[in-house]
Amino acid sequence: MKNVYFFGNGKAEGKGKMKNALGGKGANLAEMTNLGIPVPPGFTITTDCSLDYFKNKKKISKSLREDILKNLSKVEKALGKKFGDKKNPLLVSVRSGARVSMPGMMDTILNLGLNDETVRGLAKQSGDERFAYDSYRRFIQMYSNVVLGVEHAHFEHILEAYKDKKGYYLDTDVKADDWKAIVEKYKAKVLEISGKSFPVKPINQLWGAIGAVFDSWMNKRAIDYRKINNISDSWGTAVNIQSMVFGNMGDDCATGVAFTRDPSTGEKKFFGEYLPNAQGEDVVAGIRTPFPINKASKDPSDKNNKISMEECFPKCYKELVKIYKTLEEHYRDMQDIEFTIENNRLWMLQTRNGKRTAQAAIKIAVEMVKEKLISKEESIFRVQPEQLDQLLHPTLDPLAQKEVIAQGLPASPGAATGKIVFDSEEAVEQSGKGNKVVLVRVETSPEDIQGMNVSEGILTARGGMTSHAAVVARGMGKCCIVGCGSLQIDEKAKTFEVGGYKLKEGDWLTLDGTTGQVILGQVATVQPELSSEYDKFMKWVDKYRKLKVRTNADTPVDAKTARSFGAEGIGLCRTEHMFFAEDRIQAVREMILATDLESREKALKKILPMQKSDFKKIFTEMNGLPVTIRLLDPPLHEFLPHTKEELEQVAQGLGVSFKIIKEKYESLKEFNPMLGHRGVRLGVSFPEIYDMQVRAIMEAACEVKKNKGIKVAPEIMIPLVGLSNELKMMRENADIICDKVMKEKGVKIKYLVGTMIELPRAALTADEIAKHADFFSCGTNDLTQTTFGLSRDDSQKFIPTYVEKKILPQDPFVSLDQNGVGELIKIGLKKGHKTKPLLKVGICGEHGGDPKSVEFCHDINLNYVSCSPYRVPIAKLSAAMAALRKTKH
Ligand code: PEP
Ligand code: MG
Repeated sequence: MKNVYFFGNGKAEGKGKMKNALGGKGANLAEMTNLGIPVPPGFTITTDCSLDYFKNKKKISKSLREDILKNLSKVEKALGKKFGDKKNPLLVSVRSGARVSMPGMMDTILNLGLNDETVRGLAKQSGDERFAYDSYRRFIQMYSNVVLGVEHAHFEHILEAYKDKKGYYLDTDVKADDWKAIVEKYKAKVLEISGKSFPVKPINQLWGAIGAVFDSWMNKRAIDYRKINNISDSWGTAVNIQSMVFGNMGDDCATGVAFTRDPSTGEKKFFGEYLPNAQGEDVVAGIRTPFPINKASKDPSDKNNKISMEECFPKCYKELVKIYKTLEEHYRDMQDIEFTIENNRLWMLQTRNGKRTAQAAIKIAVEMVKEKLISKEESIFRVQPEQLDQLLHPTLDPLAQKEVIAQGLPASPGAATGKIVFDSEEAVEQSGKGNKVVLVRVETSPEDIQGMNVSEGILTARGGMTSHAAVVARGMGKCCIVGCGSLQIDEKAKTFEVGGYKLKEGDWLTLDGTTGQVILGQVATVQPELSSEYDKFMKWVDKYRKLKVRTNADTPVDAKTARSFGAEGIGLCRTEHMFFAEDRIQAVREMILATDLESREKALKKILPMQKSDFKKIFTEMNGLPVTIRLLDPPLHEFLPHTKEELEQVAQGLGVSFKIIKEKYESLKEFNPMLGHRGVRLGVSFPEIYDMQVRAIMEAACEVKKNKGIKVAPEIMIPLVGLSNELKMMRENADIICDKVMKEKGVKIKYLVGTMIELPRAALTADEIAKHADFFSCGTNDLTQTTFGLSRDDSQKFIPTYVEKKILPQDPFVSLDQNGVGELIKIGLKKGHKTKPLLKVGICGEHGGDPKSVEFCHDINLNYVSCSPYRVPIAKLSAAMAALRKTKH
């Protein structure tokens, strides 16, 4: 097996496709060389060698050493320099380079090959003694830190003390002789701290550096980064050894970074920055403010009138423009490039596909199709589904300063800034006065719906990605952070403490729902605008996608938002959310407290017109698209308050004694409400509740059709069915009522009755259940909860640990557990289709908006996924990708 790949003099042994063996950087250096682009000669040691190194008890094998020496002499020949030569020394950089970019995680050493003799050669060659000794001391510091483990601080102290003694202020005040003296002090320090002299022989320096770069694959930073980004430990890193070029050797030298298109807007313009007489790190680290690369991007208001590279280095600029065009055409994607100019000669040091915002990703993808660089199919893969979130929600101004005080789960993206409130009533009151508020709660309950609705954002200390707050906020497209366990909330005192900060009601707080960051004070936000390129891109997405995408929407506003994002129907309307409005909850509580059928029916009669009016608005909004309305699901006690004072208030409002309320409250309490008296079990116990809801749905549908001439396609859905007899009974009741209403109204409507598959038993007996169902909708939130035996609201206490310890690959409430829950869905689908081959099957749990889960749904041939309104475009793009992937294979 080949260990080392040479590149230089217009020819490389490797190529761009060999990222697995050469790492991203090495593969692209080879590719650029083969394209005839000027790249300083060098060679790449393969990723496999780093794995062998670890197997070999951290020893560089003899055969690898031989290969390295052979290639080193090829570099010497290419440049007419010699490694370790006193007069004409070759200096090299030693850099890591994994298969995918791991910015800043592993080690790099520059200027390797310098010692007391070669530094004189460098001084002579460059005609700049100061530069040579400055490079030497930088090398000692970098090498000693990376290879010998000597902290940077030791060197910084020496330099500061020296400058103080001499009365120097800046590094530029330090002269050649000073650097010479400092080099001696550095070397003495290395001996003192590491117990070893600084290696004099360049070849020994090289072995040390290569070993250290291999080792850096296993440093903590790199391991953590790989964990977070799902990068395998077994990939290893390549090592790139490349001849040094200097951008800091005088006024005819420079260094810079550029993008072939604007990475934040996607605009097709060459965009970049450079610094004359500087090293690459100076641009990236922001030590000096860089200059614009071309005249066009100069800021006319800038009084300093900095000279662009186009003006200052016209020949190199022209060459760079030619190169960037070649690179973009070759890679057929926007490139992020690094270059150096040494004595008016341009060298390319790196090219890679540039990172970009969602807006830029879409614009670039659409324009590259227009330019015939890529096909429409390829363009679909140029935008990451999750990125689309950035486009739809207001986001934090990227230029703003921010002080992050806590981190929670990013439950619903976007940004929110407002004054802190600790309860929903206060939220309603403050927002009524025109104040922006952020609702901070230990956890939310359905009763908080109003408060959530008027808040800019929601922050909770408890709960996971499918907790109430998360589900509802996503539905509202509202920024929300949940499970922020470090918050110590004192709801009584209306304060919270976190990381040494204490905040009170009325203080300003900012949430970044995209990252889960909680930020002190106010941070400016920016409103996104959807471009014409976005519309075009989504049209292509729709063309390739097979899976339908519906939305989970409980209100006409949600329905409207979702339609504007292209939802093809409502897959889940949770009717209970309509019960919590202030003008309704009273009637709902009357219904709960009713001790006989007559008084329950009386209360239900009050609720009926309210539900009906909501349904009418939703049907109108959806204008002929299917609308799945789920009958009441949560246990009844969720509609009663929990404190004594609140219960007393309810008793007063309803004109009953506190004792009655209290008894009812106690009787409804459950040890495990999620497995309790809820879903279809309520319909079996109190058929009149479901009857009322079915009547409201059908009356609304008939009236909308009759009075407005709008098409309606209602789908009545029964939750938490586990037994076919449950559905049989509910369906019979529903059919009777539907027939009755249609007769009363004199209208015929095609309606469906179906069920959710959200219990393992339902999936396992789906053939029996399907006899009574026109459709299935998999409730993957409850199905995950009941398959794992995990509480969806409490499991955040330990799921992150499971993920960290690799017991679980990801939170199963976020991304569908395909092996377990997915298997049940497949069984349910197969059995359902056995009974009814054309049975419509979709999913409506939170997974409907998760790209990986959507791909799974496509692969098993579901009819649709349903997700919160703001995730509709994400689900659509994921579905298009899944469809294209499948046709490719
Ligand atoms: C589900 O369980 O997946 C579902 C959609 O219903 P809910 O989240 O309301 O329980
Ligand atoms: Mg459910």
